[in-house]
Amino acid sequence: MTKPYDETTKKHKVIIYGHPTLRKRAEEITIFDDNLREFAREMFATMEEYEGIGLAAPQVDRPIRLLVVGVPDEETEEMFYMAVANPVVKEPAGTYEMEEGCLSIPDIRDTVTRPDSLTMEYDTLEGEHKTIKATGMLARVLQHEIDHLNGILFIDHLSPVRRALLSGKLRRLERGESQEP
Ligand SMILES: [Zn+2]
Repeated sequence: MTKPYDETTKKHKVIIYGHPTLRKRAEEITIFDDNLREFAREMFATMEEYEGIGLAAPQVDRPIRLLVVGVPDEETEEMFYMAVANPVVKEPAGTYEMEEGCLSIPDIRDTVTRPDSLTMEYDTLEGEHKTIKATGMLARVLQHEIDHLNGILFIDHLSPVRRALLSGKLRRLERGESQEP
């Protein structure tokens, strides 16, 4: 997919930890129309505005099963853009540790262990059912964003000790206070 938006595309505000939508299970998408495609373009534009590599619709307070990713291709270094509706992960395999962050949990990063390859079934913005195999960065971003569709955040994957260490920062986010540097 070439760059799927331009300067005129509307951008949304990303909601922050503590907002109830981040903990909801998002709804299946059943209507694949121009409204959905325009909203996906807005999500790509929002993702770039916030300098993210992935964004799930619940993060802009729309609890529907849609996510977008924009990651550099590991070989060509060109940007790879993908919009995914109704994803289902099959055949997760391997384990891999990688540091993650989240636009909805600013200033917190931590190492998360996840499968390093997977097969994903999903619908395109035209409602076409597809299957893709993903590894590396793409597999990582997809899993993080799919979690958002189920109300799961990357901090949920951390050990109780790590979460306890972050609890003060998380409480401040919940109260809407900015983080100290
Ligand atoms: Zn996230």
